[in-house]
Amino acid sequence: MSIPVHVSATSALTHPHRFAGALPVRGLVRLAQAVAETGGDLQAELTADRESGFPRVHGRIEGALTLDCQRCNRPFQWPLRVEMDLRLVFSDQEEKAALASGDPYRVENDELPLRELVEDEVLLALPMLARCETCENLMAEPAPAPERKVETRRDNPFAVLKEKLKQR
Ligand SMILES: [Zn+2]
Repeated sequence: MSIPVHVSATSALTHPHRFAGALPVRGLVRLAQAVAETGGDLQAELTADRESGFPRVHGRIEGALTLDCQRCNRPFQWPLRVEMDLRLVFSDQEEKAALASGDPYRVENDELPLRELVEDEVLLALPMLARCETCENLMAEPAPAPERKVETRRDNPFAVLKEKLKQR
């Protein structure tokens, strides 16, 4: 069983619907471009219902993505866990009203593009600056930074002197 590409919003909301399954990373074209390796699957579990008084698609997306560390360029495993909660709206008015209370998704032509919605959520969850654990720990250590500063400060007077001597 997998997550359908499209479902009809009205039929999904007639009764609570649950969609669950594996999504291969390489099948999500935009995500595949953002990761270092496209092997593996994401696990998604989504429910469409009106139980909170308005139509929603909500659930969870999990998996491990391979990202390139932006500091050492080595690929590393990044654990993904996204809680998704979209309020479905069907008109401009509804969309405006829903903005205050959450994340509205405007349904067009009664279509719920479930895989696209999952991919959007995952792309939003990706770190702006991916760093492996080793680099993350290095960055967290405050020690080396002040040392380097002292060094450059120490070098500076000589550099200035040299420049002055050159000018004579
Ligand atoms: Zn790194």
